[in-house]
Amino acid sequence: MERTYIMTKPDAYQRGLIGKIITRIENKGFKITDMKMMALNEAILTEHYAHLADKPFFPEILEYMTSGPVVGMIVEGNGVVESMRKMMGPTDGLEAAPGTIRGDYANNKSENLIHGSDSLENAEIEIKRFFG
Ligand code: UDP
Ligand code: MG
Repeated sequence: MERTYIMTKPDAYQRGLIGKIITRIENKGFKITDMKMMALNEAILTEHYAHLADKPFFPEILEYMTSGPVVGMIVEGNGVVESMRKMMGPTDGLEAAPGTIRGDYANNKSENLIHGSDSLENAEIEIKRFFG
């Protein structure tokens, strides 16, 4: 079965939106097969966001992602990688359509509530990274 790595970010915890996000995943019919709350450190974040490590805003990403707990999940289902990306909406909450998670709850490009793997290959890498 296809699977992806989903992670609620610290703003979702702070704003009390973890339950709403999980409900959307379950309503879609996807199965959460593993889940854990974690405090991420700089080392794992630098690996996870390696594609952004040379950007000027990288220190802000680190500050944001270490500001509170995240909830990592393995989510399974047909076409789940692409479907979860659609349900999340694009990175910038202002560009994300209403009805998407970011479109309904986020209004900027950094604090956008949720991470989801962007390919089958990265899904497996990220599941290994966070669940071993
Ligand atoms: N990010 C940011 N500013 C940007 C681009 C990205 O703060 O200009 C943050 C944002 O939290 C985003 C994360 O870095 O979700 C990872 O960026 P990516 O381009 O992989 O976007 P995503 O796959 O999360 O939509
Ligand atoms: Mg990404």
